[in-house]
Amino acid sequence: MIIVLLGPPGTGKGTQAAAIKERFSLPHISTGDIFRKNLADGTPLGLEAKGFMERGELVPDKLVLELVEDRLKNPDTEKGFLLDGFPRTEVQATQLDKALSSQGTGIDHVVLLLVPDEVIVGRLSGRRVCKSCGHVWHMDFNPPPAGGTCPDCGGEVYQRADDMAEAIENRLLVYKKETGPLISYYEAKGLIRQIDGNQSPQLVQEAIFKALG
Ligand code: AMP
Repeated sequence: MIIVLLGPPGTGKGTQAAAIKERFSLPHISTGDIFRKNLADGTPLGLEAKGFMERGELVPDKLVLELVEDRLKNPDTEKGFLLDGFPRTEVQATQLDKALSSQGTGIDHVVLLLVPDEVIVGRLSGRRVCKSCGHVWHMDFNPPPAGGTCPDCGGEVYQRADDMAEAIENRLLVYKKETGPLISYYEAKGLIRQIDGNQSPQLVQEAIFKALG
């Protein structure tokens, strides 16, 4: 099964991806996570992506497409996979369709998570993340432990540069302009499963599982 998770930043895609991955035994491919790992490791790809990421802009399609193409060659994707944060532009979406149809396969479901903008801003600006294992906290609802060290792995708990106010605003604008059109693109193919993301993670998860059948 091939699933795409679509929706603005801060709608809970990462949280729900973990649940979908577990339930359907699919590899979770997050282009944002791959870029952050490359950034942390100081690879040439990470350095190329750094500025775009910090400003909340999209990394150029060419770089993203090379990365995804490479990742999809991994044999763990043979029985399907879950894409999170990709595609984000029409060029990415059409290239993905081409690559999949050349292998005689295609996307089964596009899960569209929707949350009002003001809720997104509150979620992202309060978000804190472990630099090593990716554990997520929120300053108001689930504050990280004092001292800035992750209790799971000892990594540094930090605020992503793109979770700062200015970058959040930019990410929402970029989403509307570049990624928004993908909704009608996938709607025309009958693939959109729209989910209300403005409820508890448990309820969102139940709604997604129901939609995926
Ligand atoms: P995310 O964690 O998915 O919000 O991604 C973090 C950042 O990585 C984004 O703001 C972009 O700068 C970059 N990025 C991740 N996925 C893509 C993509 N599919 N296309 C372009 N840029 C991306």
